[in-house]
Amino acid sequence: MTALARGCFIDGSVEPIDGDTLAIHDPATGEPVGTVTAAGAETVDRAVRSANGAFAEWSCRSITDRARILRAGAELLEARADELAPGLTAEQGKPLREAKLEIHKAADTLDHYAGMGKEVRAISVHQLDPGVDGTVLRRPLGVVGAIVPWNFPTTLLSNKLGPALLTGNTVVAKPADTTPFTTLALAEILTEAGLPPGVLNVVTGTGPVAGEALVTHPLVRKVAFTGSTPTGERVMALASRGAKRVTLELGGSDPLIVCDDADLAAAASAASMGRFFNCGQACLAIKRVYVFESVADEVIEAIAAKAGRLKVGLPTEKGIQMGPLHSARQRDLLEDQLTRTLERGGEVLTGGGRPEGLAGGFFHEPTVVLEPPRDSPMATEEVFGPALPIWRVKDLDEAIELANASPFGLGSSVWTRDVARARRAASELDCGYTWINSPTKVYDQLPFGGVKSSGFGKEHGSEALDHYTDLKSVVLKS
Ligand code: NAD
Repeated sequence: MTALARGCFIDGSVEPIDGDTLAIHDPATGEPVGTVTAAGAETVDRAVRSANGAFAEWSCRSITDRARILRAGAELLEARADELAPGLTAEQGKPLREAKLEIHKAADTLDHYAGMGKEVRAISVHQLDPGVDGTVLRRPLGVVGAIVPWNFPTTLLSNKLGPALLTGNTVVAKPADTTPFTTLALAEILTEAGLPPGVLNVVTGTGPVAGEALVTHPLVRKVAFTGSTPTGERVMALASRGAKRVTLELGGSDPLIVCDDADLAAAASAASMGRFFNCGQACLAIKRVYVFESVADEVIEAIAAKAGRLKVGLPTEKGIQMGPLHSARQRDLLEDQLTRTLERGGEVLTGGGRPEGLAGGFFHEPTVVLEPPRDSPMATEEVFGPALPIWRVKDLDEAIELANASPFGLGSSVWTRDVARARRAASELDCGYTWINSPTKVYDQLPFGGVKSSGFGKEHGSEALDHYTDLKSVVLKS
């Protein structure tokens, strides 16, 4: 692959690379992928002004016209998935198969919101007083700053673009400083599909410079942020100036509970898939397992065996199930959490170190740790890599108590055939999503978003539209 050199995407086209730059490297090999502009405040200002200039025309178009363009964009993205996947793998590190899945999912989400163009309705009240009617208008907010991390660059952005663009907002997106290329390609595809210049802009750059310039820009009316909890808290504090709207999709430490009446093989598969997909770097990954004592041995053995069998290697190679971590920083963080945990206790059942023969990238073995201390880093922090702790529990009471003891509250899973147990877990687990006897698939039809340190606000579902619109009451007296 030839090394790329791209500037920001402003006013409908990619600019020439300019000023300070960021070098992007392949996490699997360390090879250079390309270089992008490291946008400063002046470039972010041009992008926001472009979005602000495009707002009047875009927001006045019919919703069906905007939906038509979103659908055309989804179709183009879908058609180009095979072409885009190698670039996503090169900058992110995920296996090619997962890169394709991600791009298809991003297209699905855009298509879902395009379909909603025919569903959006508001309320009207007839005869509030004699001769007086009331109507509630759902109006767009203006310029939205959309900031996303590197783990799923296209889907996390599509989650924001779908509802934001359908409802008439314009957007300035900032991808992570390590995954800019697929985002730039996505902006070009949507423009080819008919998005007018300025409606979507992309600023490449670092969080502290480009990200903060975007969050604090006076013309930005809403910040849609996905990323870590500490950064989200900072973004929220910065956005308080000007009382900007904020949604925060932050970290997670999702528990999976296996009851004694569950389909144990299916539960073990869901735990392994849920933990090791994308090399464990997903907000909704399974990060803690609690299994009833009476069935624990069978489940623990099955999970450890599955983890031990995963084929780790170069993400471009056929049959590879797990690639590298995204960066040296992510691997250092994981290794530090494992060290701080294991010096206090816990037994490594499989993995635990770096695999042989892959020294060019940031690889780590799929790792399963049995019974680390319940207040150790693997229990209390977000582990954003391929390491899974498992604890035995007496019953559902203990499982729910431990599951809820985390500062995070994004998702949770429960495996049981007992309806009463399932109902109780769904009601008492303190988080935004509970999967019962199901892998952790996110559906466009259902709202997704956390509680506690996992943030607030919803993506997906018709509820996402509420976060990109304001309701305005109109009283009409004849
Ligand atoms: P991060 O917070 O470091 O970075 C996320 C984005 O914020 C990047 O684009 C980054 O450049 C930008 N940023 C960094 N500092 C900034 C600042 N001061 N002002 C404005 N923007 C800034 O996140 P990360 O560690 O790279 O990503 C992984 C985290 O994201 C994990 O905690 C994961 O759970 C979370 N995540 C959450 C969801 C969800 O939907 N809840 C989805 C995916 C990832």
